[in-house]
Amino acid sequence: MIRAEEPTKQDQPSIKKSLITVFGPCSAESREQVLEVATQIAQYFPETILRAGIWKPRTRPGSFEGAGSEALDWMLEAREQTGLRICTEVATPAHVEAVLQKGFDMVWIGARTTVNPFLVQELAEALRGSNIPVMVKNPINPDLGLWIGAIERFQAAGIQKISAIHRGFQSFETEAYRYSPRWDLVIDFKSRMPSIPVLCDASHISGDRNLLAEVAQKALDLDYHGLMIETHPNPDEALSDAKQQISPAALEAMVRNLVLRTAGTDDAAFGRALAELRYRVDAADDLILQGLITRQRLIEQIGSYKKEHDVMILQLQRWEEILKRQMENGADGGLDTIFVKRLYELIHEESIRIQTGLFNS
Ligand code: PEP
Ligand code: MN
Repeated sequence: MIRAEEPTKQDQPSIKKSLITVFGPCSAESREQVLEVATQIAQYFPETILRAGIWKPRTRPGSFEGAGSEALDWMLEAREQTGLRICTEVATPAHVEAVLQKGFDMVWIGARTTVNPFLVQELAEALRGSNIPVMVKNPINPDLGLWIGAIERFQAAGIQKISAIHRGFQSFETEAYRYSPRWDLVIDFKSRMPSIPVLCDASHISGDRNLLAEVAQKALDLDYHGLMIETHPNPDEALSDAKQQISPAALEAMVRNLVLRTAGTDDAAFGRALAELRYRVDAADDLILQGLITRQRLIEQIGSYKKEHDVMILQLQRWEEILKRQMENGADGGLDTIFVKRLYELIHEESIRIQTGLFNS
């Protein structure tokens, strides 16, 4: 990603001026830390929005819970000194009142708040009448309805500038990332809420500074509107989320290496090759669907047969064999086994649903 004032490499498109960046520490820890990080960020990214958690939602009591209200003035001072716009997380109406009174530029709603419609409604009421932009993180559990519902509550309260932050979802699978990105869900979100810009919080998804670049690149490839990344002057010393924070200098190097691909090009040969590949993708999709239709017909036959012979629908051993076989097949062909497992769980769920329908008919 190339900053506007830097010379751009010939073969790389320059950074979209409209790309939104929100950089800053996980938590505001002290006045010195906030001013230091803000100064460094402003040096590399003068257009960015400075973030810092003032009240921190922690899983267990006893961890650092943020500096609280006194950090509001540190953020104001940072804005004064650097010209960066400032934002923080609000989780209660009292937080909203405090940031509105201090004149913050933006707020975000945390993942643990988006899960709770009562609380979201209270925040929406507290924000009513203000024209502060609101960024809504996805709920911690993979439930698109809750995310969309929260955004609708802010819209209904008259908030005009709303964006969404994809911060990953809790998952019980073991994965390289701290929170599963579930890019598929966000693609779905984007088609259901096309007017809402989506930012990627690469820090909470990856949970590890070494994985930030690949997550951020993926987000840009999927045409996200911006990035939220936690940055700290001494990441290893951070009082929260130390592993995933990165110094402003390292962030600058990482961001510089991100590639912004264009949505299209005038090159006719490229256009033809892309159309050809898309045609083949469509044909592959048709085959997948045809396979599913054939499978469903067979499941219906099996269901009727089991019913006639009073055999139980769920045959656990058979299901385990199917799953194992297809995960192996998939792995042989280079498919991600977690993806194959998820796909087959869905297919199996549907086949149980169909057979249950037959049994009850
Ligand atoms: C944060 O941004 O520091 C934070 C607490 O995020 P989330 O709500 O995504 O956990
Ligand atoms: Mn954090």
